[in-house]
Amino acid sequence: MSVLVWIEQTEGGAVPSCWELAGKGRELADALGVSLDAVVMGAETAQTAAAAQSYGFDKVYAITDPVLADYRLTAYAVGLQKAVEASGASVVLASATIGGREVTAYVACQLDAGLAPDAVDLRIEDGKLVATRAVYSNNILTDVIFNSDIQVASARPRSFPIPEPGAAGGEVIALDLGLGEDDIPEKVIDVKVSDSGEVSLTDASIIVSGGRGVAADPVKGFELVTALADVLGAAVGASRAAVDADYIPYKHQVGQTGKTVKPDLYIAAGISGAIQHLAGMGGSKIIVAINKDPDAPIFERANYGIVGDLFEVLPALTDAFKERLS
Ligand SMILES: Cc1cc2nc3c(=O)[nH]c(=O)nc-3n(C[C@H](O)[C@H](O)[C@H](O)COP(=O)(O)OP(=O)(O)OC[C@H]3O[C@@H](n4cnc5c(N)ncnc54)[C@H](O)[C@@H]3O)c2cc1C
Repeated sequence: MSVLVWIEQTEGGAVPSCWELAGKGRELADALGVSLDAVVMGAETAQTAAAAQSYGFDKVYAITDPVLADYRLTAYAVGLQKAVEASGASVVLASATIGGREVTAYVACQLDAGLAPDAVDLRIEDGKLVATRAVYSNNILTDVIFNSDIQVASARPRSFPIPEPGAAGGEVIALDLGLGEDDIPEKVIDVKVSDSGEVSLTDASIIVSGGRGVAADPVKGFELVTALADVLGAAVGASRAAVDADYIPYKHQVGQTGKTVKPDLYIAAGISGAIQHLAGMGGSKIIVAINKDPDAPIFERANYGIVGDLFEVLPALTDAFKERLS
């Protein structure tokens, strides 16, 4: 029996939010009295497997195969399932990235197991996993319990602290994927890297977002949003209205049909606070709203509100932070 965590890789190595599950996974494994195992998959796995050892996993299953060079659902789901069998996992966890959500859903179906996607907390009660999910735009927290023997959950990035890595321990066990290229229906034709150098929205501890409020001069508006983000080392987000109006690409969209984020600080400039936007960022620790309408709904959720024109407020904030942080 074990708690098994999928440590997802991107080109730059492990996805940082997966390490949160080293700490939370250890807590769950100790409560169940079972081992904490990890699985790493890719064309190369040595570096991430070594990192997993330093995060205290008891066993690290490494599935190394050229067909795993690019993410493909079928191949990664087969790999995760092999690791579940090898480790005898009763709890299977992944970070709720796009891949993490998809692979856990697929594997849960294959194993006839219960699934709690995008959990914001995890605990053990009476020997079973309880996963807390934030629903209705983060207004209600629900506890999900499982009837199945295998319990699968993905955890919203930034829900748990990342533990300090220590001395390498735990053994690395190679597993065979057992798939050839012909067994995988998805083919990767081309890969376009679009956001090199940008701070990832889902991993960011600070996000500065812009909305339709930049409409008077969208180019300048998002330059001001980006300038403040740069000073703060923050990621740039946006409302759907801003994305739909082509002010900024979709990958920046926060909300129900965009990304779910949970930063320490979320600065919303020219965003009204529609329920679909709140669905993506309502779990932020501190929300600062900049809006020229004192009755904008975002102020009901904001910890701090600035009533004013974003074209004046954003540069003033950027200058003030520059001075403070220099
Ligand atoms: C199924 C569905 C899914 C959706 N998914 C999402 C989603 O994922 N994410 C999302 O964001 N939305 C989503 N929406 C859209 C959502 O309902 C809102 O339409 C959208 O969030 C509004 O974006 P906004 O706040 O930028 O624009 P608006 O609602 O138009 O608000 C603009 C705000 O800017 C303020 N403002 C104007 N000028 C200035 C200025 N110079 N300085 C300061 N403030 C100014 C205004 O007072 C206003 O409050 C979805 C809708 C549906 C139906």
